[in-house]
Amino acid sequence: MSIEENFSWDYLKNVADALDSYRIRALIDAKQDILDAGIYDESQYETILIKMLDEEKLKYSLLNFLKQNSESNLKSLELFSEMNSIELNKTLSFLELLKNENLVSSEELYDKIEGYENNPEQLIFKDFLIKPNKTQTSQLKPIYEPVKIIFETKNCSGCGLCAGICPVNCLQIYNGFGKIDEDKCIRCGLCYFVCPRTYLPVRVLNMTQESTSEIKEYQNVGFFLEAYSARTKIKEISEICQDGGVSSTCLHYLLENNAVDVAIGAKMSNTLWRPEPILLKSKEEIFSTAGTKYVNNPNLQILNQSELHNKKIAVVGVPCQIQALLKSTIYDIGFPSLNNVEYRIGIFCMESFSYESLLKICEKLKVDIKNAKKMDINKGKFFVYTNSGEELNIPIKEISHLGREDCEMCFDLTSESADISIGSIGSPSGWNTVLIRTMKGKELYEKLISNNLIESKPLEEVKPGLPLLQRIAGSKKNNSKKHINTRLEENKRVPNY
Ligand code: SF4
Ligand code: SF4
Ligand code: SF4
Repeated sequence: MSIEENFSWDYLKNVADALDSYRIRALIDAKQDILDAGIYDESQYETILIKMLDEEKLKYSLLNFLKQNSESNLKSLELFSEMNSIELNKTLSFLELLKNENLVSSEELYDKIEGYENNPEQLIFKDFLIKPNKTQTSQLKPIYEPVKIIFETKNCSGCGLCAGICPVNCLQIYNGFGKIDEDKCIRCGLCYFVCPRTYLPVRVLNMTQESTSEIKEYQNVGFFLEAYSARTKIKEISEICQDGGVSSTCLHYLLENNAVDVAIGAKMSNTLWRPEPILLKSKEEIFSTAGTKYVNNPNLQILNQSELHNKKIAVVGVPCQIQALLKSTIYDIGFPSLNNVEYRIGIFCMESFSYESLLKICEKLKVDIKNAKKMDINKGKFFVYTNSGEELNIPIKEISHLGREDCEMCFDLTSESADISIGSIGSPSGWNTVLIRTMKGKELYEKLISNNLIESKPLEEVKPGLPLLQRIAGSKKNNSKKHINTRLEENKRVPNY
């Protein structure tokens, strides 16, 4: 057989495997249901289908490549990336998929560096050991897995992305929990595929952030290019913002300068302190989103609106939402509104509560929630500031049992998957800590400075600065590990990070 014939045979085999994938089959079989749901027209449907077919084809191409040897390693993955002209992180994301679909086993090998004095022992990544599963692919075909298992096992973070991408609009997230209309569901499994709580390739996400093909170790706050302390110079924002107002200033700049057409964020609903997702198009609407909200809100659900198909979008969200967005760029399903997300503006998040739990916290503080003007978590306490000028607080330890169970498994304090991450920890009162993570985030921040919209200092010049942020982020990571281990001991499902 000639090389061309061999290539052609492999190519056809990969196409056949891809066409046989349940995700592709469901999309083909349910074409009319998808068109009837009215989110996508026929041409968008075809673009999505072809994109997904291409991605599945590459995934199976990697599988067939790995099957040529009993064992493969990082060098093999680099060779595959070169042969297919793709970035190593793309190949790694396919490897994660193959692993999650039980088609290969892959182990990470580390060198151990002994600890000394106050420095703990360190593990440094060395290589991969990859073995294809010996069973025939046809016997191992991944099957449809319903995302409702994520709701039912209290793994769901309520980010809203599954509802935002459901092609027949049969999934809703409300009050942090999901509900599927089983009669309408076409069993495409895309909700499970995009969910950050099914599997999340943290190493690949970090590599994607850094735009490099090198495998490195990461600190507690993830990769970042530069760190600052900043506050807005826009008077209308500084009058209403909780800390430095930098996230509202980013949106203000992006919308005023047509860098995006619309932003997705959260505003207070008619029920005070129960937020709801909002599409922001004007300065006035940005002002309606000011202030930290401690009740979980499915911002990404709003991505299902067809008006977003041809709009440039900025998303402001908490770490689990931003992780979901970055995951959807590395496992590209070709959905227009997802591909239109131009900026990921991440907010720091320690934990969130259900609305009912927030009512209980107010009850403990003997304050009517309608009288709460501002809420804040600071120095280990939950603060409520009232309209009548009172400052009430309760130690976090006394209310931590009221936090959402899924938040206990969350490892990310600082929105490590964002273009730019903004929070209050590390900066003095009235200022924001800003971590710039991508070139896009850096360009945006530089525009805020050159347009005289913010006051900015290097984070190393302020107290408590990065050391405090690193410490609190590290403690969130350790707590997440502990909770995950406890759940594993209890035979409960956990996210695959
Ligand atoms: S609920 Fe999930 S499996 Fe069902 S149609 Fe929507 S995305 Fe597909
Ligand atoms: S974590 Fe997000 S994507 Fe996953 S089930 Fe919950 S709302 Fe859906
Ligand atoms: S703690 Fe994590 S899971 Fe919970 S709302 Fe914040 S980012 Fe999401």
